[in-house]
Amino acid sequence: MLIYSFHVYQWPSVLLSDLAKCMRNFIWSGDTTQRKICTVAWKVVCKPRDEGGLGVKDPSLVNRASLLHLSWKLLTSNDHWAILCRARFLHHGKPKANYFTSSVWYGLKRYIQKIYDHSTWSVGNGKNIFFWIDKWLDRAIFEHWNIPPSLHDSLDMKVSECIMEGSWCLPDFLVTRDPDLANSIIKITLPVEDVLDRLNWHHAIDGVMTSKLAYTFLAGTGNKIPWHKLVWNVYTPPTRSFITWRWIHDKLPIDDNLRKRGCFVASLCCFCKQRAESSNHIFLSC
Ligand SMILES: [Zn+2]
Repeated sequence: MLIYSFHVYQWPSVLLSDLAKCMRNFIWSGDTTQRKICTVAWKVVCKPRDEGGLGVKDPSLVNRASLLHLSWKLLTSNDHWAILCRARFLHHGKPKANYFTSSVWYGLKRYIQKIYDHSTWSVGNGKNIFFWIDKWLDRAIFEHWNIPPSLHDSLDMKVSECIMEGSWCLPDFLVTRDPDLANSIIKITLPVEDVLDRLNWHHAIDGVMTSKLAYTFLAGTGNKIPWHKLVWNVYTPPTRSFITWRWIHDKLPIDDNLRKRGCFVASLCCFCKQRAESSNHIFLSC
């Protein structure tokens, strides 16, 4: 039920933050209400293991990724709900400026432009692609020609209007004014059969956005670390892996770290009774 709600509605940030807090507390203390002081930063915990984290999914990011994916389906699906939503909420493929009393659309509309920014249309029958506005070449034609945004609403020509019996039939003024652009259009091979236009997500090999790809896109990718397979593997019990992972991040609750966080403790290594307790001393030099 929670996941279903995540996929459809934008959750209030306070609720998401409370949910993350419960997850954080549970990881460190086993109790959703008990907070610990020596903990690895939440943004590090949420990184994948090969980037030094635990691979925990941040609820706020899961919510945003789910909505991004639903927005993608709204733009690309041919299910009845998506066709209905496109007709109701979009004008020339872009969100209408009107206010809609829809709790779902409120969470989706911010992602529509983001999807267009990271996608390119493949031409099929050209009926869904706006000739001037949509990106179906290396960039939209209005950018090539520097057409001001105030005129975009009137540019409602579809690509299908430039296709006659399976061949390109470009307007004369376009060929005359910009022969290079006309050439690059004519080089696009048109399908023999009447197939639908297809929006291709740049960050997917097959051009289709999945929930996982949506999450990866929003989370971004960081630097890979070389030690994750030494720490996380089938031969090491998870509790040992977790302690090693905390040690690498220098977040074990030993005297040295407790002092840094304001706890006044008299520190003495419990093994040699000669030096103060610190991560490096206990694990490397005691
Ligand atoms: Zn010692």
